Amino acid sequence: MAGKRDYYEVLGIQKNATEDEIKKAYRKLAVKYHPDRNPGNKEAEEKFKEATEAYEILSDDQKRPIYDQYGFAGLDGMGGMGGGGGAQYSRAFHDFSDLFGGMGGGGFSDIFENIFGGGGRSSRRRPDEPSQGQSLRYDLNISFKDAVYGTKAEITFQHNESCTECHGTGGAKGAKRKPCPTCGGAGQVRRQAGFFAVQQTCPACGGAGTKIDNPCKKCRGTGFETVTKKMSLTIPAGVDDGKRIAIPRMGDAGSNGGPAGDLIVVLHVEQHEYFERDGRDLYCAVPVTFAQAALGVSLDITSLDGKKIKFALPAGTTNGKLYKIKGEGVPYADSRKGDLYVKIIVQIPTRLTSEQKKLMEEFARIENATTSPSCVPLASLSR
Ligand SMILES: [Zn+2]
Ligand SMILES: [Zn+2]
Repeated sequence: MAGKRDYYEVLGIQKNATEDEIKKAYRKLAVKYHPDRNPGNKEAEEKFKEATEAYEILSDDQKRPIYDQYGFAGLDGMGGMGGGGGAQYSRAFHDFSDLFGGMGGGGFSDIFENIFGGGGRSSRRRPDEPSQGQSLRYDLNISFKDAVYGTKAEITFQHNESCTECHGTGGAKGAKRKPCPTCGGAGQVRRQAGFFAVQQTCPACGGAGTKIDNPCKKCRGTGFETVTKKMSLTIPAGVDDGKRIAIPRMGDAGSNGGPAGDLIVVLHVEQHEYFERDGRDLYCAVPVTFAQAALGVSLDITSLDGKKIKFALPAGTTNGKLYKIKGEGVPYADSRKGDLYVKIIVQIPTRLTSEQKKLMEEFARIENATTSPSCVPLASLSR
């Protein structure tokens, strides 16, 4: 456990912090470093885990005094803190992402209200209350070019729709509803997720609190059937990697007449062999020889959409210089087009023929560079 930061330091609180202050401090950090807000950010993930662990200990009436007195050593061997700890945190994590993944409404503050909102659990839904269906995520890979110019994509996905046989009731003709034995009619069960106790929809009755004595044969009482959908999606020009496009009401159907969730299409833009992109500007690179850079040369540039562009490289171009070709970047419907930047890579020959060498030596002689090169002020270098 070497190198671990003090739990109070992690949460940025005093040793005598109240329960409420601990909660508030953790909540602030959890919102800031939550993986859903920092996708792919390892540092944020570590911070989130660190804060979560600190919160677990300091919010525990039994563990906090032990930690106060004996530090990390005191906690060794206590349940949940050993090797298994990591797995637990990542599970708590996972539950968090599920909670945040709904995207429909609510959002962060509501979720934290549920988790931290004391023992009241007053927010529990009535079992027969209409509820929105699950939002679904669809990951779509698109080419670099399609992201720049826009495209149409066919997507095929599965979602739950209301059963056509029982119209979502889940019962066969004449079936009756009886209290669910799993949850005793509450519609919710408590489940331990990491160190949080989470109220979860009863898996047996789907939150209804009642079960049908004679379930519909088509949907086996769920009220839903899985349907494969095909739809065509318009990807606008200029989308970035990671962009989400929400298709309202294309997620799973709701229960008890509630609205369907959304389908969230997450775009993944593939890399291009020749181009890179920064916002609305495109970048490409052209290697030229030492002689071409010194004397100037006509470049053949092919834009991303295949247009042939002649570009006169001026004499005396230095290595790494960027030239702008106006309007050949990413088009946007609303405003100006981006530009294409051509980066010049000056290549110094690594192997010279005897004729080249002779000419180079002649060149050096005419250049009359007699002193050995040395450092100069950086500002004096042309870029
Ligand atoms: Zn049915
Ligand atoms: Zn139940």
